[in-house]
Amino acid sequence: MSEDRIIVTGGAGFIGSAVVRNLVGTLGVRTAVLDKLTYAGNLSSLKEVADSPLYSFHKIDICDRAEVDSLFSTFRPTGVMHLAAESHVDRSITGAEDFIQTNIVGTFRLLETMRGYYDTLGADEQANFRFLNVSTDEVDGSLGADGLFHETTPYDPSSPYSASKASADHLTLAWRETYGLPTLISNCSNNYGPYHFPEKLIPVIILNALDGRDLPIYGDGSNIRDWLFVDDHAKALFTILKTGRLGEKYNVGGRNERTNLQVVETICAILDKKRPKNRPYADQITYVRDRPGHDARYAIDATKLEDELKWKAEENFDTGIEKTVDWYLENDWWWRPLHDAAMERRGLLKK
Ligand code: NAD
Repeated sequence: MSEDRIIVTGGAGFIGSAVVRNLVGTLGVRTAVLDKLTYAGNLSSLKEVADSPLYSFHKIDICDRAEVDSLFSTFRPTGVMHLAAESHVDRSITGAEDFIQTNIVGTFRLLETMRGYYDTLGADEQANFRFLNVSTDEVDGSLGADGLFHETTPYDPSSPYSASKASADHLTLAWRETYGLPTLISNCSNNYGPYHFPEKLIPVIILNALDGRDLPIYGDGSNIRDWLFVDDHAKALFTILKTGRLGEKYNVGGRNERTNLQVVETICAILDKKRPKNRPYADQITYVRDRPGHDARYAIDATKLEDELKWKAEENFDTGIEKTVDWYLENDWWWRPLHDAAMERRGLLKK
């Protein structure tokens, strides 16, 4: 068993739960999940590790300073991986309040808790302690047809979501510069994989396809994202936490650029093979009005992480998307209640 004790904020979310399954299930690290359990948090994503003595769950809002302080003083972490966030761009456009509260105020309060806790540590414990702020490539804005996001790319967020994540990055950098806290930042591209909440593009497409519903694509489907398999991301985050240079930023990406249309067509082709119907799934594709401020292209240069810390994505998009479709086909116990609730909210489910 490892000596580490790690707090994972947002550990009941999509990426957070992959991080926790890796920490507890694969690496044997004592892990405390701090999560408010918003609509996006789901304890069933942690079922695999729920009985482990290494795992504990704490239903806490990161904005609640007293509760967070208390968890730090009882659990005494050697590291923190900060993933708690409001994460859905469309929701941030409809209403940004929760994004400002959790992503900015929450990160500020967490940094303040850590500052107080860090001061109580002895020299050896301080030397060992690390905080990783998990961020997104969306803070860098949008790319044209060429070029990649590098760690030095200037911040240029477009949506309320990405502006709130950029703020969290700046706060993290400032708490390093001003108070000397041992912080790191990671910025990653779009994740996909098992346990992805069924309102994001890939699960929406898989589940709508199976239900015989429209497969909605924003605009003409030409927007490009650089897809990263979530388990590769979880491994990268632990590598960065443990071996990254303090104060540095690391880009995490899978070198898998695809247009949204290519993503949807790939899923349709996989389903045509695995769940054939009387007509191709691609017939269900429909184009819908584009999202306001929709960034054209994201693409990540992960060379620094690959060269310096020797991490490499194990999945390419073709292998990862097939695993993802297989997982949704085999795990309707997980997604069915969430999917039905979403359908019911939108008045699409007949009772
Ligand atoms: P998610 O929405 O699936 O999960 C977020 C988790 O945070 C949920 O469990 C939720 O309950 C919890 N949470 C929300 N507000 C909270 C609060 N105030 N206090 C405590 N917990 C709270 O998000 P995700 O896709 O797993 O993303 C995790 C992190 O990675 C986020 O910081 C996100 O910005 C970043 N990120 C995500 C992607 C992606 O493709 N999904 C890409 C880049 C970066």
